[in-house]
Amino acid sequence: MRIPLVDLKAQYKTISEEIDSAIRNVIDNTSFIGGGIVTDFEESFAKFCGAGYAVGTNSGTSALFTALKLKGIGKGDEVITVPNTFIATAEAITMTGASVRFVDIDKDTYNMDVEQARIAVNEKTKAILPVHLYGQPADMKPILEIAEEKGLAVIEDACQAHGAAYKGKTVPVGDAACFSFYPGKNLGAYGDAGAIVTNDPELAARAAMVVDHGREKGEKYTHAIEGNNSRLATIQAAVLGVKLPHLARWTEMRRNNAAAYNRMLADVVTPVEAPYARHVYHLYVIRSQNRDALKQGLGEAGIAAGVHYPVPLHLQPAYRHMGLAEGSFPVTERSAKEILSLPMYPELSREQISFVCEKIAESS
Ligand SMILES: *Cc1c(COP(=O)(O)O)cnc(C)c1O
Repeated sequence: MRIPLVDLKAQYKTISEEIDSAIRNVIDNTSFIGGGIVTDFEESFAKFCGAGYAVGTNSGTSALFTALKLKGIGKGDEVITVPNTFIATAEAITMTGASVRFVDIDKDTYNMDVEQARIAVNEKTKAILPVHLYGQPADMKPILEIAEEKGLAVIEDACQAHGAAYKGKTVPVGDAACFSFYPGKNLGAYGDAGAIVTNDPELAARAAMVVDHGREKGEKYTHAIEGNNSRLATIQAAVLGVKLPHLARWTEMRRNNAAAYNRMLADVVTPVEAPYARHVYHLYVIRSQNRDALKQGLGEAGIAAGVHYPVPLHLQPAYRHMGLAEGSFPVTERSAKEILSLPMYPELSREQISFVCEKIAESS
């Protein structure tokens, strides 16, 4: 049996007719930029998130950059985030001209350690950028309280957390969340795509302008402000529009798969679903002291496991200039050596899950 980490083909097979006809429709109309397909998807995705507005972008990275920029983040400012994330989180901060201030994570949820964030706030701090890692929301209530008290913006990196909820509220929990529709994400396009989701009409309107060369809606050669080109492509919106109605069911399938793993892996350190969280299991992450051997053993049995992420950002060559040595963030560093992402996607079968769990039992 060969089991991939994610299986995008299995999903395509179930919706191929709808997808093919949606893509064909865009090509037939040769209307590749903007249009009703994009705005329809934006409206539907905002609704799915229980929020007022969604603005499509060409990636999760540009969604994060645009949201930070519109919150007035720039040179001389600091933004607090975590080192256990994909590099795009930190890149988006640097792209604005601001500096990244890393804080350690909580050992059970792998999300921002709120007390560390509280301590890290200083006179340069302008925003907190919590990451809802693996599909589980960070502990937003205290984060929003710190932000309120210190006058900081909060932008949620929800690139792995489509449909996740915090105390019953679907993400975004605060002002604004940024999503990625990278193909392997829970809602994935057939190329790069992303969105900013917010309840703030002003932020939404400005974001829509920034990602489209500073144009106001309907204008072609009048640019109210200087923006850039980070639009959501129409073909990607068409794909996303087909997939979105399936997302709630796919998320239930992920959660059922996670529950099956949890039952079968009773002797292994399995993911914690915090009491405040509805986890959408973008990744199903276990822990092992013999992670590398376990990963290799699974690989030999045809099972692709992954590590998200093997090198914490503060130890990446790209951030060597920050001068953060090994030992700076012990919880992150230790987890980077022990975490292992098991195959997780909606179409994963019970047989496949059993096979993975058998192989794990054999290796320990
Ligand atoms: C995928 C991802 C991003 C970046 O999204 P892109 O669409 O690839 O630009 C940012 N943050 C996290 C946590 C991600 O998983």
